[in-house]
Amino acid sequence: MQKKDMLYEGKAKKLYTTEDKQKMIMEFKDDATAFDGEKKASLQKKGKLNTEISMIFFELLEAENISTHYLEKLSDNEMLVEKMDIFPLEVVVRNIVAGSLAERTGLAEGTELEEEVIEFFYKSDELGDPLLNSEHIKLLELADKEELAEIRSKAREINNVLQQFLAEAGIDLVDFKLEFGRTDQEEIKLADEITPDTCRLWDVSTGKKLDKDRFRQEMGGVMAGYEEILKRIKKEK
Ligand code: 5GP
Repeated sequence: MQKKDMLYEGKAKKLYTTEDKQKMIMEFKDDATAFDGEKKASLQKKGKLNTEISMIFFELLEAENISTHYLEKLSDNEMLVEKMDIFPLEVVVRNIVAGSLAERTGLAEGTELEEEVIEFFYKSDELGDPLLNSEHIKLLELADKEELAEIRSKAREINNVLQQFLAEAGIDLVDFKLEFGRTDQEEIKLADEITPDTCRLWDVSTGKKLDKDRFRQEMGGVMAGYEEILKRIKKEK
């Protein structure tokens, strides 16, 4: 499958059309950004690592009958995906307090949540991706009531599968961000990526951060963290 036009270039990925109108090519870049693009770097091998990690998670979910846009891996840093109409929502699922939840609530980082917390952020660079509740989502007509209920329930299912799989690899799934889309047949599927760029992943026994927070917090060893995750999840596959 050949790339045609570049449809979109984001901070960490590019999206291309193909000769098949229903299929697109997602290319993972080595670039990393944080704090609204204020911090930038190119991290060698990040695109390759993220492609492989995302592929393992998508294949795991598909095997559990959770539909995703993933079709096949095309090269070291490209995958073929189904074309979808993406909901302009970042769906964040949290199992342990960290990041903006700690800032917003005052709860200490590392506090385990009895039940997962699901949050929605509006995908809008202009507004700085604000937190939305279900009434805001209705007001802005970003998703209807049934769609939102389905997105919530799929996000919970995905959390259960990933949390268990990662626990077997000695990794705590602290939190992660998902994006969903609608196919031409009005089916809601998981889109985007699942990588250490979009998840917080901590070593179960030491609490060591293995994800993009190493980049955000200038901790060093960013790619070593991603490599460690890939090594462990490949073993559990
Ligand atoms: P927080 O709201 O605490 O900053 O992020 C919660 C989780 O969602 C983290 O795992 C974080 O990596 C992910 N996340 C939220 N927004 C974004 C985003 O715009 N880009 C990326 N790569 N991850 C995000």
